[in-house]
Amino acid sequence: MTRRLLIAGNWKMNLSLTASIELAEGLKKVAAGINNLDIAVCPPSIYVQPVAAVLKGSNIGVGAQNVYFEQEGAFTGEISVGMLKDVGCQYVILGHSERRHILGESSELVNLKTHAALAAGLIPIVCVGELLKERETGTTEQVIQRQIDGSFSGVSAEDIRKCVIAYEPVWAIGTGKVATPDQAEDVHVAIRKMIEKNYNKEVAEIVRIQYGGSVNDKNAKEILAKPNVDGALVGGASLKVDPFLGIIKSV
Ligand code: PEP
Repeated sequence: MTRRLLIAGNWKMNLSLTASIELAEGLKKVAAGINNLDIAVCPPSIYVQPVAAVLKGSNIGVGAQNVYFEQEGAFTGEISVGMLKDVGCQYVILGHSERRHILGESSELVNLKTHAALAAGLIPIVCVGELLKERETGTTEQVIQRQIDGSFSGVSAEDIRKCVIAYEPVWAIGTGKVATPDQAEDVHVAIRKMIEKNYNKEVAEIVRIQYGGSVNDKNAKEILAKPNVDGALVGGASLKVDPFLGIIKSV
């Protein structure tokens, strides 16, 4: 089974409007003609529209870093899946650890957002991952099982094929402490087994599982060579053209 890899950049709350457009223009130029994988960037929501305008017709997709599950109404500060579609979004990151741990987002909320994203035709990139103390106490798989069960509750076998799961050990995000390729592969295999248990083997073989956590142009090749690692969700190293291109080229 060959799954198409996805390298996605999570720009988080970084860059100005000018810098976002320059980065998108730079990436569009250097990534032109690369078609052996999927590429996406996820700017801050307010820059999604101008970045999508730059990348229109290119081989780089655009995603948001969050969305609300309601269609419209009195939800001050939130944006809907329809609004994201309107401005050219194809992906949306859901349940990133910074949202789970800083903003208190639960798997139940991630689940509502996952359903809303799928119904709108957005590809959800659903993040899961353990804290350092959870890894140290040997509860990584239990934690991830809970996040997977909660985040995908009620999602059909047909729909979960369209989702991307990002395994992001919290201790590796923005810390420079990347998981070893074997540590990543072990958890990816475990996640695939969870999907098989909740759905079936065929679906488990189709669903893409990215790794995220301090991926850069130097360590990407070894991690991405693992058979169950289907791409990377990249934070810091996605903020400049050269390191992000280096990761893309290491596929
Ligand atoms: C992320 O934000 O999803 C991430 C993995 O960040 P970094 O690559 O900076 O660790």
